[in-house]
Amino acid sequence: MIETVLIHGGKREPPIEGALTPPIFQSSTYASAEWGKAKYIRFGNTPNHEELHARLALLEGSEAALVTSSGMAAIATAMFALLRPGDHVISHNSLYGCTYRLFEETLRPLGIETDYVDMTAEALDLEAPRRPTTKAVYLEAISNPTLGIPDFDAVLAFGHRHGLTTLIDNTFATPVNFRPIEAGFDVVIHSASKYLNGHTDLVAGVIAGRADFIEECRQTMLKLGAALDPHAIFLLQRGLKTLAIRVRQQNESAMAIARHLSERPEVEAVRYPLLGAAAGRAKRHLQGGGGVVSFDLGSSDRALQFVHALRIATVAPSLGGCETLVMVPALLSHATLDPEVRRRMGVTDGLVRMAVGLEATADLIADIDRALDGLSDAATLTDCAQLAG
Ligand code: PLP
Repeated sequence: MIETVLIHGGKREPPIEGALTPPIFQSSTYASAEWGKAKYIRFGNTPNHEELHARLALLEGSEAALVTSSGMAAIATAMFALLRPGDHVISHNSLYGCTYRLFEETLRPLGIETDYVDMTAEALDLEAPRRPTTKAVYLEAISNPTLGIPDFDAVLAFGHRHGLTTLIDNTFATPVNFRPIEAGFDVVIHSASKYLNGHTDLVAGVIAGRADFIEECRQTMLKLGAALDPHAIFLLQRGLKTLAIRVRQQNESAMAIARHLSERPEVEAVRYPLLGAAAGRAKRHLQGGGGVVSFDLGSSDRALQFVHALRIATVAPSLGGCETLVMVPALLSHATLDPEVRRRMGVTDGLVRMAVGLEATADLIADIDRALDGLSDAATLTDCAQLAG
């Protein structure tokens, strides 16, 4: 069971000096005379790396796993390990802003092109954008920040029919709510900075998949210099222990908040995986809807006025920690994207993304109500700047 794996999976036997918490091996290098046996932090093969890799592989049900210095390092490492100039990728059209920028601003100039398709569409057709050079399909299990659930069955059938590598960013769902390897995906990616760690005090990433691909990723990672430091590994391993109870609490709280928001007249549209038109698909695949709720307040002025009026939530990027964070994606995580690209992704100007923490749900709802009650149509960006100050 996942709760036991989170605490004991892959642990070193016997533990060093009987220590329940593995010591931090801060040594950068290790005595060795042969390249194949050399251990070095940048190689991602110190005792701390190896224990965490074993735990993460058990957690995702994969042959192997690798930690990296950030979620973006995990995505970049996996893409560089897999793709060569001339290769083509088909991606879901709603992605974390920096992932989109990696595809467009880094991979495209190197001759690796991506086409974007709305993978949440009914009767999804992935044949149209397919090229002879298509190598991979990329998506987020719950997309950031629009919270769409792609048609996993159609994506997997398409990927298997054409021998493509299917990569899925499982950050928002977490292995508590969705296990992509069991569903048939080849590669799972996480920003471990979010739920896996859960305490808003480190940045890390994970790639999980077949052992040969993960070794290819490790060889790529050590050339990119994207390994995770052992001290961050210690923190991540500590945070992981409580993943299941944290995520279940966040599932519950976010669902209650999403339902509550649906009843407020100020809110134009609430997006939560287990509510609305796509709830059937989400319920088939997910054990829970996750801790993020997105909702539209109609304009960036109203969205900004609302987020700055909240007293419990902090206006900040990121998610997955104990503290509730809130933001307006069009002004923060997706601000550098072309407005037309944001429109295609469904990131409207008035969209608010709330990453629900572990505070009491009733307190969060009371805070939301107070902020919504205070919304005035006359709010201007200048007013909001004063509120923020
Ligand atoms: N994937 C998703 C879905 C994200 O939301 C983020 C960051 O917000 C990342 C990847 C990148 O993670 P990191 O900040 O750890 O590099």
